[in-house]
Amino acid sequence: MIYPIVKFGDPVLETPAAPITTFDDKLRELVEDMFESMYTAHGVGLAAPQIGVSKRIAVIDVTFKEDPAAKIALINPEIIHTEGRISSNEGCLSLPEFREKVTRARSVTARAQNLQGEFFEVTGDDLLARALLHETDHLNGKLYISHISALKRDMMKRKIRKLMKQGEW
Ligand SMILES: [Zn+2]
Repeated sequence: MIYPIVKFGDPVLETPAAPITTFDDKLRELVEDMFESMYTAHGVGLAAPQIGVSKRIAVIDVTFKEDPAAKIALINPEIIHTEGRISSNEGCLSLPEFREKVTRARSVTARAQNLQGEFFEVTGDDLLARALLHETDHLNGKLYISHISALKRDMMKRKIRKLMKQGEW
């Protein structure tokens, strides 16, 4: 099933998501649906709150279907190590059409559970590092715009409010 992507303004995006405690077929189906929804929306990462599900699940594929081994499902992820700093343009499926430069760690290690509930670690640089941080932020109710200047963020929110009024958001 392909879910529509929830856009900025919906409180689910700014609510910390609940941990997963049951690793069953329902969870596996939801993760498959999240990958499908992410690919349909042309994204390289998706967190469950972005489909309106307030649970600590994220999917990432920075190769966008090129490499099946790059498909990562993270249940209850936590960032356990970061290194370096790098600025790069960042966007979010929940804030379509917007992109802003965000400074984040260059190298990141996350610890998460897989679909069987087993713990694993994943380390990534550059785009994967950025995706791990961006998606984990989502699960904590945080959007990438919390990392940009208040001035830029206010400008963006003004544009969004205008689009909402016009029924285009
Ligand atoms: Zn996002």
